[in-house]
Amino acid sequence: MNIASVIVDVPAMKIDRPFDYLIPEQWIGRIKPGMRVVVPFGPRKIQGFVVELKEEAEVSKLKAIHEPMDLIPVLNRELLELGHWMTDKTLCFKISAFQSMLPAAMKAKYEKIFVLRNDLTFLPLDLQPYFERNGRLYWKTAEAENLLTLLQKQVDNRNLEVVYNVKAKGKKKTVRKYYLAFDKAKIEEIKESLGNAVKQREVLEYFASLEAGARLASKDIVESIGVSSSTLKTLVEKGLIIEKQEEIYRDPYENRNFAQTKPFQLTSLQEQAIKPILHNVEENSFKTFLLYGVTGSGKTEIYLQSIQRVLEKGKEAIVLVPEISLTPQMVNRFKGRFGNEVAVMHSGLSIGEKYDEWRKIQRKEVKVVVGARSAIFAPFENIGIIIIDEEHETSYKQEENPRYHARDVAIYRGQYHQCPVILGSATPSLESFARSQKGVYQLLTINKRMNAGEMPPVTIVDMREELRKGNRSMFSVDLFEKIQDRMEKKEQTVLFLNRRGHSSFVMCRDCGFVLQCPHCDISLTYHRFSNGMKCHYCGYEDVVPKTCPECESEHIRYFGTGTQKVEEELTKLLPEARIIRMDVDTTSRKGSHEKLLKAFGDGKADILLGTQMIAKGLDFPNITLVGVLSADTMLHLPDFRAAEKTFQLLTQVSGRAGRHKLPGEVVIQTYTPEHYSVELAADQDYDRFYEREMMMRKMGSYPPFYYITLITVSHEDLLKLVNIAEKMTDFIKARLSPQTITLGPVASPIPRIKNRYRYQCLVKYKREPNLEATLKTLLEQYEKQYTSEGLSISIDVNPYMMM
Ligand code: ADP
Ligand code: ZN
Ligand code: ZN
Repeated sequence: MNIASVIVDVPAMKIDRPFDYLIPEQWIGRIKPGMRVVVPFGPRKIQGFVVELKEEAEVSKLKAIHEPMDLIPVLNRELLELGHWMTDKTLCFKISAFQSMLPAAMKAKYEKIFVLRNDLTFLPLDLQPYFERNGRLYWKTAEAENLLTLLQKQVDNRNLEVVYNVKAKGKKKTVRKYYLAFDKAKIEEIKESLGNAVKQREVLEYFASLEAGARLASKDIVESIGVSSSTLKTLVEKGLIIEKQEEIYRDPYENRNFAQTKPFQLTSLQEQAIKPILHNVEENSFKTFLLYGVTGSGKTEIYLQSIQRVLEKGKEAIVLVPEISLTPQMVNRFKGRFGNEVAVMHSGLSIGEKYDEWRKIQRKEVKVVVGARSAIFAPFENIGIIIIDEEHETSYKQEENPRYHARDVAIYRGQYHQCPVILGSATPSLESFARSQKGVYQLLTINKRMNAGEMPPVTIVDMREELRKGNRSMFSVDLFEKIQDRMEKKEQTVLFLNRRGHSSFVMCRDCGFVLQCPHCDISLTYHRFSNGMKCHYCGYEDVVPKTCPECESEHIRYFGTGTQKVEEELTKLLPEARIIRMDVDTTSRKGSHEKLLKAFGDGKADILLGTQMIAKGLDFPNITLVGVLSADTMLHLPDFRAAEKTFQLLTQVSGRAGRHKLPGEVVIQTYTPEHYSVELAADQDYDRFYEREMMMRKMGSYPPFYYITLITVSHEDLLKLVNIAEKMTDFIKARLSPQTITLGPVASPIPRIKNRYRYQCLVKYKREPNLEATLKTLLEQYEKQYTSEGLSISIDVNPYMMM
């Protein structure tokens, strides 16, 4: 097999297929599917993935592969197939599907280099110095020195060539190790030959005292016997010891001790839930389970014990956890049970660390991976279980190409490996719960908390009422008194600010003017730290105006309740309170999230104040009060999942109180106490919420009753855009079945971002066999017609972001 089919790194519709290349003689039998190669493509050399080997090619004159980038495949057969499947399902390019499965460190960067092809003297005099040393010149340097046109001529007359160097990022970390170059038995003899070189003799003696074949890092030797590294060097030069670079892993959890934990005796409810899972593990058969259990009901213990059985069978496990709940506490539970068998993947790791974790999996040095979304692509080959915790989290959907949902990939891989897939949640997504009602997923329910803990009582406070009573503060009387009470009792309070869609903006109190981004149709966010305004879409920054640009009033000031503002007010009202604030500003530095949580856990603060990120995973015995400052900010987003998201969030937050011995309580402040998502979250009544929400979805023809696909087009020229959007919608309508609903085109909820206008078209369907083909054709047609004109099209199948 001397021909390789390669998917090349050119993201364009007409190139999104394999191209055949000849494998050079010396690489035949060594280049395999799943390896990356550098191939010539047009005038360039680019990267590609080998997807297949074959004897015969479709065309006759083939170019040869330039060189391999990997010596072993980085994608196995299953992942290659998965890539093709993802391409069909999400309408992405094959190349992006493959690349998304690899750690960022492996997404190689190109470096362009001019390389001398003839003798140096063929070059004009002023260019010669640049090539004197090694016959190469970096494109970047040439660009900086303004040489490109000069060089261009030399490329034309073939004195120079431009080479695309693919530079691998994420270097392996190595350490120098030393070991004896001879048999340990001869040590006395050789020692004598060293005469009175005392230090060198000491080193050999030290090796003699260790077991045969011992390899030591220079640091170990230097520290143990106090010789200098130059002694080691001399011994290496004499050929008595050997120096070798050995790879070490950067283990982000290296210096921590994991107290070994033992499996609990399961409660009878847990027993009932785990039994069907273990059955499928034993039988090696695929099934998707929905593990529906309130927070604290012992779901994680079920995961752990299921994994244990999987490991006993010699198989591997993937556990997905949302990024924000991938806290050290969470990781410790897995490391505590399975120790070094566990790899951890999340965005807090450096690129190099992630790469190391990935390679542990690839080399079969670990059996369990715990990670955020992309860990679903872990290159295991013998998977025995896949678990998705908090399955309702929308962060499992990737919001850029490829727009895959980890749940779908999990089910694909579960089928491939014939193993159970477990979706766990206290508030399952409507889609998943509906599937469990239809028997597509098997429902496993645990309806009681561990520790026989009751769910905490919840009070709803109507903030409109507070205002009528003259309370203009962001704290209701009730909540404020309760905070004071906890401070006296030395118990802890968590205050939760639902910030999404509610950032602080600047508004004129006289005329109502709101400061907007000049490039995007959204209001600018006020940042206290820099005392400036910032656009969260394009990064535009401005100073806060002293007077209203509209009416020149001086009563222009920032509004809304950012965490900083809450902290300020709280400090004013309760000067003695010790407050820890957690939001994107205070947790952006690596490890700070962990530090703040630890401080709170250690009782170094009375109040933890934060955004979404504190809704999860918090589990401290001293928290007895949870306050939600504004429950309904998310309700008014133009998103059919707004009620679902509100319900999930409120339920999650409420679950943070009273998880241990001390009883807890929850106060929810809202302007819409009558909304069912607020009411039912207060009652912790998922089942009734499900019923209500299903009715709404049915009425609106939304998921899970219909599938939806969102097509967004954007362009700088509004008239042109509207014209194109209309034609596109007509094109789609004409090709889909009459039962399918095609809405639009209309302006997107955010009608302009970065000076580009945005229009959308929403397709709702129950069964639409023509959809994939129609959208593909659409992309092809418009790519040809419009890329040059600056149109962009994005297609999101099963979207989670409706903006
Ligand atoms: P969930 O994942 O549903 O939120 P957890 O698995 O975290 O629930 O369980 C809640 C608490 O109960 C944890 O502290 C856990 O260690 C403990 N726990 C779980 N199962 C048992 C059991 N069978 N016996 C005793 N304690 C348990
Ligand atoms: Zn004004
Ligand atoms: Zn902007």
